[in-house]
Amino acid sequence: MTIMEKDAQYVAQTYKRFPVEIVSGKGSLVWDSQGKEYIDLGSGIAVTSFGIGDEAWKQAVIDQLGRVQHTSNLYYTSPCADLAEMLCSRTGMKKVFFCNSGAEANECAIKAARKYAQDRYGRERYTIITLKNSFHGRTLTTLAATGQDHYHELFQPLTPGFVHAEANNIAELTALTEKYPTAGILLECVQGEGGVIPLEKDYVQAAEKLCREKDILLLIDEVQTGNGRTGELYAYMHYGVQPDIVSTAKGLAGGLPLGAALLGEKAKDVLGYGDHGSTFGGNPVCCAGALSILSRIDEALLREIREKSAYLFDLFTGAPGIRQVTGLGLMIGLKTEKPAAEVANACREAGVLCLTAKDKLRLLPALNIPMPLLQRAGRIILEVCDPDKS
Ligand SMILES: *Cc1c(COP(=O)(O)O)cnc(C)c1O
Repeated sequence: MTIMEKDAQYVAQTYKRFPVEIVSGKGSLVWDSQGKEYIDLGSGIAVTSFGIGDEAWKQAVIDQLGRVQHTSNLYYTSPCADLAEMLCSRTGMKKVFFCNSGAEANECAIKAARKYAQDRYGRERYTIITLKNSFHGRTLTTLAATGQDHYHELFQPLTPGFVHAEANNIAELTALTEKYPTAGILLECVQGEGGVIPLEKDYVQAAEKLCREKDILLLIDEVQTGNGRTGELYAYMHYGVQPDIVSTAKGLAGGLPLGAALLGEKAKDVLGYGDHGSTFGGNPVCCAGALSILSRIDEALLREIREKSAYLFDLFTGAPGIRQVTGLGLMIGLKTEKPAAEVANACREAGVLCLTAKDKLRLLPALNIPMPLLQRAGRIILEVCDPDKS
């Protein structure tokens, strides 16, 4: 059996994969089973923050693997405590709950917001407002949070208590908080799956003000935007707001499954003994990987990310066949004249791995992608998009 036949027969067919078997990689290059080389502009969907097989990351993971790979949360391990300290000291958040994925990080944020509101204001105050076109995960609760109807239809009934607001419409957001006793407002600063669309700064600041006035918790979903991706450690830092809870995952541990909900002053002690948990959450190997990644997302790297971002915006803005460039940092969406899926396929054939999001081509290169590789990939994308060149 070929790998494609085996997958078709034995793996639940929930993913429409590209016809490529990736067998190895180094940094921002990957190779398939035919020996073909690709420049990777997807990073496993913003996960491999420093590319494939980064040496320092690999050593940190192997060292921890050699000590102990798992203990359960009944015991202390230093990578977990050290990572929580590092996350708090770099964000001003106060405590961290560790889990294994983005959806679970959002689950924790939602649970904490509901418990905070119900402890203070009673059982009726449970509504979480999220935005239309958002994406927050695949569990029944995070699907309910996700503001896209097509995700809702198949799995009714979803968790109740979610309403969806139009992005950048503060009047509507305010009206919804008056209509529904609201526990939390959950936002992605840059909607990723929704098409790489940043929120307006005024809107996010007005949402924060509204939250402060009404003692609603401001929850920022940094699962995709976090950990340096947008050119700040977390995207909310571009917006001049201080969230009450930040959820993150994807790039946090550089390719190992780790999610985190960072809890601010109001939320830090809301969840007590037995209120929440996760068998694998805070796994020492994953936390050791995350410590290696996070400790190297410093000001110098963030500046490089912003410079590479500016380079890509310049390169693509106004180019033939490219109608719009959106995004922040190394999270970039291109609205192309040709259908985005067609462009992604042609790029792949030409040796560049790209993603799509809605009707956009989506680029999420490794945070440390070498400039020559970025330039080479950029030229290939320009060529593929140009209607006069194919
Ligand atoms: C990917 C993503 C999630 C879900 O993360 P999983 O690890 O797949 O559960 C949630 N929110 C945002 C913004 C994401 O991009």
